[in-house]
Amino acid sequence: MAHPKHAQVRQRYNYRCGYCGVSEVDTGGELTIDHFQPVSAGGDDRDDNLVYACIRCNQYKSNFFPSPNDLAHGWQVLHPRRDEISAYVREDQQTGALISLTESGRFHMALLQLNRPALVEHRVSQRLAALTAAKQRLLETENAQLRATSAAQETYIARLRQLLGF
Ligand SMILES: [Zn+2]
Repeated sequence: MAHPKHAQVRQRYNYRCGYCGVSEVDTGGELTIDHFQPVSAGGDDRDDNLVYACIRCNQYKSNFFPSPNDLAHGWQVLHPRRDEISAYVREDQQTGALISLTESGRFHMALLQLNRPALVEHRVSQRLAALTAAKQRLLETENAQLRATSAAQETYIARLRQLLGF
């Protein structure tokens, strides 16, 4: 049965996995609700504790919740809305792989397996699609400019013809 706040969480996360970013469209179906602090570790249904997550990320995260010892080492899962993820992890634009910037970033990436091959491939194809779209916009702008130039030239030629009488 769906979580009572399923629709709300879905919307809050814009239909994407809070951990890896894949969308419902990418995965071909609705995602799941993850308790950031697992119920088994005392987590509840407060909005802040509910993360929209794909099945993979949810499975990999499982019931992990850091012990004080884990936290002392920086071993934690980053919260998609509370933590500034870009301070911990960045994407290599060439390869689509994530690179950790801190120990917490490394742990977060390893636990959630954020460099799983299908996900890396997905990031590359997303980037390619964005580049293709940008290139198309550029070509459209160029094309519009060429058309405007061509129209201006035609007007000019027509005027010359009038002046020269043919
Ligand atoms: Zn995910």
